[in-house]
Amino acid sequence: AENHRESLMIVSSFAAQFFQRSMWDTDEGKSIGLSYFRERAFTPEVMRKFELGYSPDQWEAFTGEAIKSGYQEQYLEETGLSVKRDNGTLYDRYRGRVMFPIHSFTGRVIAFGGRTLKSDKNVPKYVNSPESEIYHKSNVLYGLYFAKRSIREQDNCYLVEGYADVLSVHQAGIENVVASSGTSLTVEQIRLIGRLTQNITILYDGDAAGIKASLRGLDLILEEGLNVKVVLFPDGDDPDSYVRKVGASAFKQYIEHNKKDFIPYKTSILLKDAGSDPLRRAEVIREVVESIARIPDSIKASVFIRECSHQMQIEERVLLTELNKMRLARS
Ligand code: ATP
Ligand code: MN
Ligand code: MN
Ligand code: MN
Repeated sequence: AENHRESLMIVSSFAAQFFQRSMWDTDEGKSIGLSYFRERAFTPEVMRKFELGYSPDQWEAFTGEAIKSGYQEQYLEETGLSVKRDNGTLYDRYRGRVMFPIHSFTGRVIAFGGRTLKSDKNVPKYVNSPESEIYHKSNVLYGLYFAKRSIREQDNCYLVEGYADVLSVHQAGIENVVASSGTSLTVEQIRLIGRLTQNITILYDGDAAGIKASLRGLDLILEEGLNVKVVLFPDGDDPDSYVRKVGASAFKQYIEHNKKDFIPYKTSILLKDAGSDPLRRAEVIREVVESIARIPDSIKASVFIRECSHQMQIEERVLLTELNKMRLARS
């Protein structure tokens, strides 16, 4: 089984090198892939570090090269790099896409995300590797290998939505950044971060989907006993577009000035919808207490209840009663 996993990693590493050569050393790669990344303002250093590449816009460029180099079809298929036709022959999964290799905790290439360069709505924007023996996407965080030292040093982990966000934020000098690409945030991913730090700051896209995902992520993080803050970006921006717009130092200032503890964050998001309707405001309070009830440490939870009581102008005693009811219901 170890041999099998090793073979899958070796073929993945070969593929990462192939996609890099295709980007840096071919006319098609330079004029399409490399210029795409240049337009997104990624530096050559970051492109090399994250091993970005390009898949030629042909049916068998990669598969042919891999077979010629002696890689077995079985491994090409299991990693999802190649796909089998009905007649048994293989073709490339990634064609004419810019390639983001996904690394394991120890820096081995285990999967890929490939972004289309077309703006055609019928073409999926990202194609990701399927699950395999080396890639269980719910246990993987994009960028973790390049972030882990900084996460320990800073004692905080920034969590973003996408590949480009990781690269741009990293390039801006904030290296403690990872993405839960290809899935919504999982408990396993939070535990992975929890081995390095107890503090997570969510930097999701400033749109309805990003806000919704942040509220869900926040509850999961609290439930795992970690501390969570959230930064909301202007509507329509994600960390990548925002840092490109304002530059690295204004970006860092924005984060510092706009990061909110989970109670004020959740409260402000929900209150915006509730308006002045007292019943709906009561519902907001209940939902915030619901998040607090997820915190396993009861001392920590009672500190947050006090904070909530101040912020919402509700007697602490009332909130504590509600908290205890919810904790009982959860256990
Ligand atoms: P870009 O800036 O390159 O347009 P993004 O990262 O901002 O991309 P989003 O639409 O915000 O793209 O999606 C966030 C992340 O979700 C992506 O980086 C990718 O990991 C994943 N994702 C997006 N679209 C798809 C898709 N069609 N299939 C699989 N994963 C996807
Ligand atoms: Mn989005
Ligand atoms: Mn983006
Ligand atoms: Mn985005």
